[in-house]
Amino acid sequence: MALRSWIASANDPATDFPIQNLPYGVFCHRQQTRIGVAIGNQILDLHACADQGLLQGLPDELVKAVCEMRLNPLMSLGGHSWSALRSRLSALLNADAADSQTRDRVEPLLIAMNEATMQLPAEIGDYTDFYASIHHATRVGKLFRPDNPLLPNYKYVPIGYHGRASSIVVSGNEIRRPCGQTRIAAAEPFFGPSQSLDYELEVGVFIGPGNTMGQRIEIAEAEQHIFGLCLVNDWSARDVQSWEYQPLGPFLAKNFATTISPWIVPLEALGPYRVAAFERPAGDPAPLNYLASPLSHLGGIDLTLEVYVESRQMRQTATAPALLGRGNLSDLYWTIGQLLTHHASNGCNLRPGDLLATGTISGPAEGSEGCLLEMKHRAEPIRLPSGEARTFLVDGDRVTFRAYSQKEGLPRIGFGECTGTIVGADQAQIL
Ligand code: MN
Repeated sequence: MALRSWIASANDPATDFPIQNLPYGVFCHRQQTRIGVAIGNQILDLHACADQGLLQGLPDELVKAVCEMRLNPLMSLGGHSWSALRSRLSALLNADAADSQTRDRVEPLLIAMNEATMQLPAEIGDYTDFYASIHHATRVGKLFRPDNPLLPNYKYVPIGYHGRASSIVVSGNEIRRPCGQTRIAAAEPFFGPSQSLDYELEVGVFIGPGNTMGQRIEIAEAEQHIFGLCLVNDWSARDVQSWEYQPLGPFLAKNFATTISPWIVPLEALGPYRVAAFERPAGDPAPLNYLASPLSHLGGIDLTLEVYVESRQMRQTATAPALLGRGNLSDLYWTIGQLLTHHASNGCNLRPGDLLATGTISGPAEGSEGCLLEMKHRAEPIRLPSGEARTFLVDGDRVTFRAYSQKEGLPRIGFGECTGTIVGADQAQIL
């Protein structure tokens, strides 16, 4: 029988956070910043658990790490520590394992989620964004090269670029429309607010122990370096991007803001939802040896991802957000392990708390696009339930990502929300 928690809201079939999930985050409550674990509609304060002796018997360094204000020290400790902590927390919250005395000690350490403010879970030293969806790469490539959408390197090299960590914000922050330089057709370039603001539906991978500079990470060991996953919205200014991206790739079109969801779902929690890695069509090259995983039969994760958009008008008329895209993480051409191993394959050091993002996750079918740019080929513009049309985002639009894994006989585990609302450009910037 599936595990159940003595916290009623954790057993609600609609919750993202049953006892099988136990994602980590950093929250602020009554001026205190703490590491917590989401359970139903509550947060368990891990610092308080340590203070109350509920983590007794776990290694000192582990107990010390959960009392910090960011997750980096816990991330650095690696899989044995993560598993030990996870089983202790599960035992404290388990309806069958926790006796009434334990419940009485744990209960006062729970904080209602709606009374806490979530913060960035880690000090993110470096952020790298990939391009791992072949469906996204093909659809976007078609806009520029209808006869030859995929470049010759795509099936050999996991394509990526270095993003910017300083402008990563946690879900709920407003996103100011960026200004930038653009050129329309052959006219003179000009500077002003982006007219082609887009979202990108992605999954983020938080690095655990990582590697020393000069050393590689073998593909068979890649997942030992993954602390957990979150949602990422890699906001993009398409007009700025198309003018600036050659020859060095994305720059100001991407680095003005990136939103992440606050809860990091441990890879261990996603274990039951592992599936085979993407099956390369006949005729595609096999990955080079250093990227060929002995675990490719479980290289994928069956994680459904959804994009919802709500205009200001929809909010004012209490219209439910519109589902604009639904994809799946298992559709990626490269596994998250391959992205990590490739990143370290030249000896580049990955550090605890670094963030990798998959790139826009899209499926093959209409309705599975992970960004608005990919819907440009449609004959009709996107219609919101309010009747408003969209090609790109308008000021006041709120974009929300959700994700969940589900399977017969197990409760659904979810990622919570990754949301951001577009606000108008800073007029003082416009020259
Ligand atoms: Mn991206």
